[in-house]
Amino acid sequence: MQFDTKMFEKYFELRKKTDEITAKLTSIHGKNIVCRPGCSSCCVNLTVFPVEFEAISYEMGRDGFDKDSVIFDSGASCGFLKDDLCQIYKYRPVICRTHGIPISFLNDDDPSEPYNAVSFCELNFNEDDLDYESDDDDYEGVRFDENNTLDIDELNRQLFAINIEHCGDPEKRIDLKGLLKK
Ligand code: SF4
Repeated sequence: MQFDTKMFEKYFELRKKTDEITAKLTSIHGKNIVCRPGCSSCCVNLTVFPVEFEAISYEMGRDGFDKDSVIFDSGASCGFLKDDLCQIYKYRPVICRTHGIPISFLNDDDPSEPYNAVSFCELNFNEDDLDYESDDDDYEGVRFDENNTLDIDELNRQLFAINIEHCGDPEKRIDLKGLLKK
């Protein structure tokens, strides 16, 4: 397939920005973040927007990535895992780049009472160490706010907009496994 690389510039820019935010938040949370090679607790099989799928596919082709080197494990939480390592780590989608980082989002499960929520990995943050509302100035635990969490709603909004500009279809998703097709 022929690609117009200009189409992917905004996607690659967003991915770079995501990596920068993740690096900053990892630094802010310091010793709490115990993410390391070999931990794949966040990994699940994914579908992605067409712009993301095609940009990754383009990159793999540009780099001469050997798709035959990937052993896809249909029984794994994400088939791209091998020995709990991602076989396409360099090319992994935006959402994979946020693994382990505390995520803030608007929870509107009950539309009449939406509230700001934070999702986090319990390997990184112990519920007992967290404080959401205390006014205690001496409190030394982790208190999540907009400066130490990743705003996933905003990230998704930007990715959604880039995809719409690219393909015009808000619904279409593509199974990441399709990257291995030739
Ligand atoms: S693509 Fe890689 S990082 Fe993303 S969920 Fe699968 S194994 Fe994990």
